[in-house]
Parts: sequence; C-alpha cells; structure tokens
Amino acid sequence: AKVQGRNIYRFFTEAMGQAAQRHLNLARRLREALDHGGFALHYQPQIDIASGRIAGCEALLRWNDPEEGLVPPGRFIAFAEESGLIVQIGEWALRTACRQARQWADAGLPPLHVSVNLSARQLWQADLPERIGAILEATGLPPQSLELELTESMIMGHEPQAVEQLGLLRRMGLRLAIDDFGTGYSSLSYLKNLPIEVLKIDQSFVRNIPQDRNDREIVAGIIALARKLNLAVTAEGVETPAQLAFLAEQGCDSYQGYLFSRPLPAAEFEKLLAR
Ligand code: C2E
Ligand code: CA
Ligand code: CA
Ligand code: CA
Repeated sequence: AKVQGRNIYRFFTEAMGQAAQRHLNLARRLREALDHGGFALHYQPQIDIASGRIAGCEALLRWNDPEEGLVPPGRFIAFAEESGLIVQIGEWALRTACRQARQWADAGLPPLHVSVNLSARQLWQADLPERIGAILEATGLPPQSLELELTESMIMGHEPQAVEQLGLLRRMGLRLAIDDFGTGYSSLSYLKNLPIEVLKIDQSFVRNIPQDRNDREIVAGIIALARKLNLAVTAEGVETPAQLAFLAEQGCDSYQGYLFSRPLPAAEFEKLLAR
C-alpha cells in the first residue's frame, strides 16, 4: 500500500507539473502575441431592424498563434482571465477597436458605434475610467461611439461597487450593454439600479425561435421588459429569416448573427460598411 501510495503521489505531481508547464507555456505565448501583433479583432455588424442599416459592430478577439493557427477566444479567454493577462489583452482590444472606429469615421463611412467585451478583472480596476478616458483621447473617438459589454455574473454580488463604477463610465458618455442577458444569475433588481442602455439577448434563446414555445415566450418577455425599462435590445446569434421576422414582430431594436454576416477582419468589414 505504501508503494502504491508513493506511485499515486508521483502520478499527481507529474500531472500537476505538466499542467503547470502547459499554463506557463500558454502564458508565454499570449505575452508574445501581445508584444508581436499576434492578436486581431474581427468585427460583426449589428443591424438596426427598422432601417436595415449597420448601426454598430461588436469587436471580437482572435489570436493567431504561430504554433496552432487561429485560436478562438473560447480556448484562451478563461485562462487569460485567471492569469490576469486579460487586463492587458482587453486594453489592447479597447485601444484597437477605438482607433479602428475613428479611422472609419475619418474615411467618411456611415457613423457607427463599436462594442467591446469587458472582462471582470478590467471592470474592477480602480482606474478603468481613467484608462478608457486616455484611450478615447488618444484615438479621438467620441465616447458615445464606444459601447462596453458586461455580463450579469460580473455584477452580481458587487452591486454597490457596480453602481459606482458603471456610473462613472456612463457619465463619461459611454454606452453600457448587458451581454448574454438571461443566462447569468439573473436578478432583475440590478437593472433598475445600474445605468445600462442595452440588453443583448443570448443566442441560446434565439436559436430555437420561432418553433420553441418557451424560447418564444422568453424572447418576447425580454423585449417587453426592455421596452418598459426604456432599454434598447439586441438579439445575438440570428441565423434565419424566420428568427429575424419573429424578433421584428416583437419590437426588437437590432440584431447580429450569421444571417447578415459573420465577424469579419477590419478590411472586409469596411467593404461591407462602404456598400
Ligand atoms: P460573446 O460576446 O457572446 O460573442 C458572441 C459570439 O457568438 C462570438 O463568438 C461570435 O462569433 C458568435 N456568433 C455571432 N453570430 C453568430 C451566429 O449567428 N451563430 C452562432 N452560432 N454564433 C455566432 P466568438 O468570437 O468565438 O467569441 C466568444 C466569446 O469570447 C465572446 O462571446 C466573448 O465572451 C469572448 N470574447 C471575445 N472577444 C473578447 C474580448 O476582446 N475580451 C473579452 N473579455 N472577451 C472576449
Ligand atoms: Ca459580447
Ligand atoms: Ca453574447
Ligand atoms: Ca456568450
């Protein structure tokens, strides 16, 4: 039993060693990507349903790893969050998205806002408002053109601090959106206390409309709630004309999804915008 115990111990330390090694390796590659242009943003249009026009876009992070090729955010965001690297990566994304939106405006393209995903670690940086202020100043992007996407789980349990921090951002003129609405530990009470402008209906509710009765009711309910609270609603993951028709009928303001376009590299998004 003693020998077996020792073997198990060795097994665990080796396994832990390997996991630690993998993490160190990933951290090193992410830092390298930050320093050497390994990250890019792709932009997905957000369409105003009433006019059919591109009203904005969501900036989505892509990592082009020399070893693995294009790595989707689902494979590294959680690690970047745990390791703290997300703060620098997120700041890079904010600066890049703001600079890009300003360039499109300067090129005379139709006005639009850019939405950037914020991580929990970024939200709770004491100097986040100053950091964003500096980025807006350096890029010359008006604050009204920048939207920040936050999730409910980032806010839950920290409501007083969120009221304060989001209040500062709101007073700077930024727009704040709740991403993946309805999937977190929802408590509707925070909606009336926080200076939010937009609810984004999670794609898991959109996927099976109009066939699924429950999803239909949930989506209709979120849209009705948003209207009562004077919030704009964006639906995510819209892939079919039938989904769009249902959303339009319910009074949804805007949507994004493969039906209109996948997230595109900046140059391709620009062509779409210029059409
Ligand atoms: P999200 O913010 O909910 O982004 C929407 C995801 O849905 C994107 O995945 C987008 O490519 C995908 N999508 C868009 N339209 C459709 C559609 O019609 N059907 C389907 N099935 N999917 C669609 P992506 O780009 O892989 O990003 C995954 C997640 O990674 C994002 O989810 C967001 O939570 C996170 N993320 C992306 N960029 C950043 C970033 O710069 N910072 C942080 N903190 N997180 C980011
Ligand atoms: Ca998002
Ligand atoms: Ca989302
Ligand atoms: Ca999501």
